Order: sequence, then structure tokens, then C-alpha cells
Amino acid sequence: MDDKIVKLQEIIDTNDNIVFFGGAGVSTESGIPDFRSQDGLYHMKYKYPPETIVSHTFFVNKTEEFYEFYKDKMIALDAKPNAAHIALAKLEEKGKLKAIITQNIDGLHQLAGSKEVYDIHGCVHRNYCTHCRKLFTAEDIMKMDGVPKCDECGGLIKPDVVLYEEGLDQNLIAKSISAISKANVLIIGGTSLAVYPAAGFIDYFNGEHLVVINKSDTSRHVRATLTITDPIGEVFSKLKI
Ligand SMILES: [Zn+2]
Repeated sequence: MDDKIVKLQEIIDTNDNIVFFGGAGVSTESGIPDFRSQDGLYHMKYKYPPETIVSHTFFVNKTEEFYEFYKDKMIALDAKPNAAHIALAKLEEKGKLKAIITQNIDGLHQLAGSKEVYDIHGCVHRNYCTHCRKLFTAEDIMKMDGVPKCDECGGLIKPDVVLYEEGLDQNLIAKSISAISKANVLIIGGTSLAVYPAAGFIDYFNGEHLVVINKSDTSRHVRATLTITDPIGEVFSKLKI
């Protein structure tokens, strides 16, 4: 373990073109569970599985039930950035980290101070009127009863979150691929590499060090230079940045 931390420290110290790609595991230490792998409580509370609720069809047809789940399980206003979010923000400030690509929708990287964040699945802190495009925060949504409607025009508000059946933002995908293809170090954290789009993104990496930090060892799929199977917040809290 300590040898691996020393190695990661050395990679970070000697490189200034680092890109981070993260998944749900980055936020679990901030108390945000992956809403797809809830402990079964939702079975008692919701009539549908999360994959059904968080779909475009469900949003259109059962908007009120969608928002019950969205407010209850997807918005977590009291979650705070953990050691990983904070360290990554510092690395960007020092000019070492060029971009963060995240599958998380919690906005914790931005809250930690990171600027170049490509949140390819969207963010619960951005919600927009489908009629006039006015933006609403997660706090605004939490204050509204029933189906959130725009206070300017009465239009339906939709979260800027990519639902099942919806496509990813091609502009963010292009930026992500560009950042990865130019990076000398790619750190992948808290995500299973077998899942799209992570697996596809790695193909664009031509740099020197591919680092995988994930509780379960998924690095056998890729040519990782360094694999650390510990919680990512714990790993970053041991680094000197
Ligand atoms: Zn509006």
C-alpha cells in the first residue's frame, strides 16, 4: 500500500498534464450512494426500479413521481467534498491537472473549487425551464411542491441530468476525449472500467501513466501502470499536494 502511494506521489510530482476520470466511488466517501445500487429501501417506497424512474419516458409520463425520487435520492444538499475532490481541485490550481471527467451528478468537484469539470451525465445543481431556459438551482427545486414549474413562464422544469434513453452531450464528450488524448497521466477513480463510456475513453489515452484507484480491481481490462484498491478519498488524503 505505502509503496503504491509513494509511486503515485512520484507520478503526480513529476507530471503536469494529468486528467482524472471518476465515477460513483469518488462520492461514496461524501455519503452519496449510487442511486442504482440502493439498499432495497426504495422497493418499499417506490413502485418502480430506479432505472425505470430515471428514464426520459418516465419523466414525461409520470413527472410527479420522477420528482419525488429525484428530490429524495438524487439531490443531496448536505453532501460535502471529500479528500479526493479537494486534492483534485488543488492539483488544478497548481497547473498539474487539466480536466476532470465525471459520471457523477452531485456537483461536488465544482463545490471543491475545480473549474474544468466535464460532468458527462449532467448535474443536479442545474435545472432549466423547458420553455424559456431559465436556470434553477437544486435548492430552488427542493422548495417547490409537486412538479416544479418556472416562476417566469409556468413551463416545466427539467433537471440538466442525462436520463436513460437520452444521449450524452456531444460537446462534453469531445472535450473529454480531447483532454484524455493529450494527457500524460490518466487517473481513473471509483468506477468500473467495463462500463460505457469509461471503457471507450481509455482507448484515446496515449500517455505514460494509467493509474486506477478503485475498491474492486477492474484494471485487468486495461494496461494500468499502477493499481490501488483502496477508497479514493483515503488514497488522496495520504498524498502531499
Ligand atoms: Zn420559463
